[in-house]
Amino acid sequence: MSKKNLIIGDQAIAPGETKDIALKVSETYAGTAVNLPVRVIRSKKKGPIVFLTGAVHGDELNGAGIVREIMFNAPSLNNGTLICIPVVNIFGFENHTRYLPDRRDLNRCFPGDTSGSLAFRLARVLYDEIISKSDYGIDLHTASVHKTNFPHLRIDTKVSGLKELALAFGCEIILNKKAPLNSLRGIASQNGCPTLLYEAGEVYKFEPGAIKLGVRGVLNVLSKLDMITLKRIKPAYQTIVKKTTWLRSEVGGLIHFHVHPGDIIKKGSKVASCERLFSRETDTIISPYDGIILGLTTLPAAKPGEPICHLAVPQKPISEIKTETEAQPKTLHRKIQDDLSTNINIRKSKKRT
Ligand SMILES: [Zn+2]
Repeated sequence: MSKKNLIIGDQAIAPGETKDIALKVSETYAGTAVNLPVRVIRSKKKGPIVFLTGAVHGDELNGAGIVREIMFNAPSLNNGTLICIPVVNIFGFENHTRYLPDRRDLNRCFPGDTSGSLAFRLARVLYDEIISKSDYGIDLHTASVHKTNFPHLRIDTKVSGLKELALAFGCEIILNKKAPLNSLRGIASQNGCPTLLYEAGEVYKFEPGAIKLGVRGVLNVLSKLDMITLKRIKPAYQTIVKKTTWLRSEVGGLIHFHVHPGDIIKKGSKVASCERLFSRETDTIISPYDGIILGLTTLPAAKPGEPICHLAVPQKPISEIKTETEAQPKTLHRKIQDDLSTNINIRKSKKRT
């Protein structure tokens, strides 16, 4: 399975060696090299090569936090190789933005092009030097600006081996969704490197719960691949979700929510209320389905048509999911809900789910 002589850039990494590599991806206007920092950790024994990527969108920092935790605190490898890239989009990271300076979304530019734009060239280096040499990948993201995501995985279950890895990762919700065109996970998965995508939290932050669950997930996957020795931790429930829907505001005004990210709700439940600026007149947004709150807007204002809540509609009955959650303690689940709720306008009186 594994490649014997691993060479990344112009560096050979011997079995048993850990090496930091500065992978040249571009140059500044002053002509100095712009390098992508990569850490390669190799066991003496051959085994799978797994890459971890954070901040493909330069403002999505939880992934960088997860990769750093893994680099510093993961148990040593029994076999195989771990390639750690905390920040892929180093240009966006410098400027606190999702995009590259050429205004491209790096995650729509794979597998890249050596004679293309800045984004395509960066994508090509990542593809040639990392993705094409790996057996599996985990790409770590957050919601885009002004939104937050309850932690979940995105995979295409048609890709061989991905469902098993996703279940091992240990998120409650696995979204079965075809990857966007030219995305990292799509191109990697189509080319022999099944890749999971983790979505958790919001931009510009290190969110402790989302990072903790991400670290746990990466370790669970490495354990599933027999690369480390670790008892895998399972969540209270797991559900593969095909259908999601965005609930939108019908009026212009100020939003407050009646739910937290990750709440399990029944059809007909109140999700949010929108009040007029000069009155308490309220428009209420009701859930059209039994579902799980996957994402919420962090903005307290909305106008007609603006998305305010991303709802996952599981195939499994929610009564079954509720029974499963009640059977197990949900300390980390609750911590994550509390973390993610800090920047959302929530007014909730009824019992938390
Ligand atoms: Zn992203």
